[in-house]
Amino acid sequence: TGSTSEILQRPQHPYTTKLLAAPPSSQPGAFALISDKADVVLEASGIGKAYGQNENSIQAVRRVDLRVRRGEIVGIYGPSGCGKSTLLRILATIETPTEGSIFLGGELATSARTDRLLSYNARNGFVMPIFQDPVSSLDRRWPIWRTVTEALTAKHPPEKPSREHRQSISLEFLRRVGLDAIAPEVRPGELSVGQCLRVAIARALVAEPKLIVADEPTSALDAVIAASVLRLLKQAADSGMGIVIVSHDRTLLDALCNRVWRCATE
Ligand code: ADP
Repeated sequence: TGSTSEILQRPQHPYTTKLLAAPPSSQPGAFALISDKADVVLEASGIGKAYGQNENSIQAVRRVDLRVRRGEIVGIYGPSGCGKSTLLRILATIETPTEGSIFLGGELATSARTDRLLSYNARNGFVMPIFQDPVSSLDRRWPIWRTVTEALTAKHPPEKPSREHRQSISLEFLRRVGLDAIAPEVRPGELSVGQCLRVAIARALVAEPKLIVADEPTSALDAVIAASVLRLLKQAADSGMGIVIVSHDRTLLDALCNRVWRCATE
């Protein structure tokens, strides 16, 4: 408590000091240079998406061309309703476009001509999403070790990894996202929003994807927790993953991304 100027200029509580230091604008990132010879993990070509038919149709996404290379962080920025989340779902091959095609690792993954996923990559953890609402993106009935290692059961259906193996992998990845103090048996309801988001990041990392797509991943978090989540995404990019991150926060994207693509409404 205190006047605005007192709090901003002479913060008393240690956490207030941390909050003031946390926004990415005050920590300019060191960007890795992305060579134009680096592997292209994602190529979106002429993507459009219309919902509904004829005069009632809504054009949610218009003519998007986007290329993401290994190790690159690409931001998608724009006002509410411009189609960012829809575009991200299409890039993640969760939804099919009504125009254009998506290539993952050079293979045609989905296109307007079919409703099916066309490539092995699209089905096999090549791209992992991190959703806007981390709490509802986790299965509330499952202990978090099960959620974190879900991709392992999808990748190896004939030889399912044992429960013990999955638990030890979950411990390793929970440690990587800074959740080593959390028991792998807890359920999402016992965690904070920020902790649920870290679980969702751990789940994405376990799949060893080539691309992570994240929709407003820090919108529900305070500045300190948000900064730590952005550091995790940056580390993932430094380890060679491509990252696409949607946000309405231009400052955040400018501090984090190699490139920001602006989503236009018209
Ligand atoms: P943003 O993420 O930029 O806020 P969205 O991708 O959520 O934008 O939405 C873009 C437009 O598409 C909005 O007009 C929205 O109402 C519409 N839209 C999104 N999803 C659907 C859907 N499943 N059915 C119909 N319209 C949708």
